[in-house]
Amino acid sequence: MTHPIGGASSWGPCGVDVASSLTTEVCPVDIGDPLVPVVGVGVFPVPVDGVEASFSSSECDPVARGPPMSFVTDLRDKMTSISLYGIVVDIFRQKDILGTVFILKLEDTTGAIIAKLHFVKSWSLGRVSIGHTIFMSGLSCSMTSRNVLEVSWLEKDTGTSLVNLSCLPALLNSSCLHKLSYLSDLTGPTNITHVCSVRIDHIEHYHIESGFSHSLCGHFASERPDGIPECSFCNCTCVGEVIRTFQLKLTLADERTKILSWCTGQTAAELLQISPDDFYDLPEDEQAMYMYTIENERFMAAIVSSKRQENNVDVENMNGDSDVVTWEIVRALKCE
Ligand SMILES: [Zn+2]
Ligand SMILES: [Zn+2]
Repeated sequence: MTHPIGGASSWGPCGVDVASSLTTEVCPVDIGDPLVPVVGVGVFPVPVDGVEASFSSSECDPVARGPPMSFVTDLRDKMTSISLYGIVVDIFRQKDILGTVFILKLEDTTGAIIAKLHFVKSWSLGRVSIGHTIFMSGLSCSMTSRNVLEVSWLEKDTGTSLVNLSCLPALLNSSCLHKLSYLSDLTGPTNITHVCSVRIDHIEHYHIESGFSHSLCGHFASERPDGIPECSFCNCTCVGEVIRTFQLKLTLADERTKILSWCTGQTAAELLQISPDDFYDLPEDEQAMYMYTIENERFMAAIVSSKRQENNVDVENMNGDSDVVTWEIVRALKCE
């Protein structure tokens, strides 16, 4: 019994080199197996190094398939070479410290843990945000001075990886990698990445905004009074590292319901089917007309809850306004 995820050739035109970060071995677990933890991206065996071994089906032999993935509850002081799979609950740069360290709070089905990500120079993992499902390997466990267990991840170490599974192009174009949800399933008990077949219901013209994002992390870069761009996520200036981006709110619909969602970067450009530069080259009345032409276009969309769990702090927001939209479209693919 082998899950029909074959070699890299079957992945089709992903546009991103996922093959290098994915193995062709897949754990033969049944979709719907009650033993499979429903943490991350739909319900499926994630074909990423180490992850397959974790789905604790007796048919998986961790020894034959590389280091097993751990659950938060299994972690002990001084463990090394750990792999974890879970949802980003919080992420921010640690201040008042030498070097580039980010604090990532990760949650799986068994608990939550703080991971400290140490970078050689700057953040290098693309966009990772609240609600995204990630896989991390090469982690080491230690006790903090306050006697709390945490894990650390060092960019410079060989064998470490951090893959954002929610953003994998293959998630949307390989039907074996996801189970379709309805938009009405988003409010379910688990905060997984849902893949939905949707159409654009409506985009208000004033819900399209443009600004600059930091190319290394995909987060919004604001302009300081002296004109120098500054990344709110990396907490640093980023001259020469910004790209124009949309920040978009739009109403999605499927057979059952409608939701208001938001997106940015490449995902927003994919949904609008136009680059920010081309869009803002249009006269304003044509911009408004353009919005009508894309209504009812159909997409596959990977959607997460970007709402912070604790203290209800708003998600990052280009304007810092309080008009918070919970659902982030992390990836979209137009249906031909
Ligand atoms: Zn309108
Ligand atoms: Zn940044």
